[in-house]
Amino acid sequence: MPKDEADLAHFLSATPDDVPVQVLGVASNTLVRDGGVKGVVVRLGPAFGQIETDSLRVTAGAAALDKSVAKTAAKAGIAGLEFYAGVPGTIGGALRMNAGCYGGETKDVLVSAIALDRSGRRQVMDLAEMKYSYRHCGASKDLIFTQAVFEGTSDAPTDILARMDAITEKREASQPIREKTGGSTFKNPDGPRGAWQVIDAAGCRGLRVGGAQMSEQHCNFMINADGATAADLETLGETVRAKVLETQGVDLHWEVRRIGERL
Ligand SMILES: Cc1cc2nc3c(=O)[nH]c(=O)nc-3n(C[C@H](O)[C@H](O)[C@H](O)COP(=O)(O)OP(=O)(O)OC[C@H]3O[C@@H](n4cnc5c(N)ncnc54)[C@H](O)[C@@H]3O)c2cc1C
Repeated sequence: MPKDEADLAHFLSATPDDVPVQVLGVASNTLVRDGGVKGVVVRLGPAFGQIETDSLRVTAGAAALDKSVAKTAAKAGIAGLEFYAGVPGTIGGALRMNAGCYGGETKDVLVSAIALDRSGRRQVMDLAEMKYSYRHCGASKDLIFTQAVFEGTSDAPTDILARMDAITEKREASQPIREKTGGSTFKNPDGPRGAWQVIDAAGCRGLRVGGAQMSEQHCNFMINADGATAADLETLGETVRAKVLETQGVDLHWEVRRIGERL
């Protein structure tokens, strides 16, 4: 946990290139394999958690929680970031995943991001340099984001907060958000059907491998129902992919990041 950006830059410049460096937010989109992660795992702490507003802009550290950013923006009368109320991650994770929901995503509101490369050099990236597409960022995988600037539009705080509440209610009604889960397991495929629809059609709702299960409530959510290992979860995901390919002709792609070594 670096003390601040200068500390992280120093650490990166002093760490030999052959030492793997992995950054994590709050791991809401990450499955750590049972053999653990080789090398260094960086987590950004409180020094990277600040959130400030200025006119229609919000500047947030990469460790700030998406939900807190949505709330701060709403209170300042900045609309457009309310979708972050539904994403249980950090701004760093949101920048890397192009996180979004209910019609809004990171690329719609991002102005620029600050990142350190593997050598500790600081870069200011504009939106185009992030090379965003659906749940994907094409910027170099080595970058560690430390801060982001977003811009919204003007609206009454009460109206924005009401839209945030509506998002929260909708999620609580439709997703197993209190379970141990990584959210959507697979990205929505091209075509008219969402991931959950092809998974359902392939008969995988409720499917189990060991302690891992495709949720009965939302069948694109994988849950740790009963002491699942990472291997149970990954095998379940691959079983679902194979069944969906075989019966629906759709090749699903993981949205959940899998890191580390298998046992
Ligand atoms: C119940 C539930 C519901 C969810 N719903 C949604 C949803 O509606 N929409 C959606 O988009 N996602 C959703 N997710 C997934 C997840 O919350 C998002 O992908 C989120 O952006 C991940 O943030 P994180 O901080 O947890 O990232 P992590 O899981 O810690 O990391 C994810 C990726 O981002 C990288 N990363 C993290 N921090 C940084 C950084 N500072 N610099 C560079 N790279 C970094 C990691 O290396 C990793 O590759 C959901 C998850 C859960 C559990």
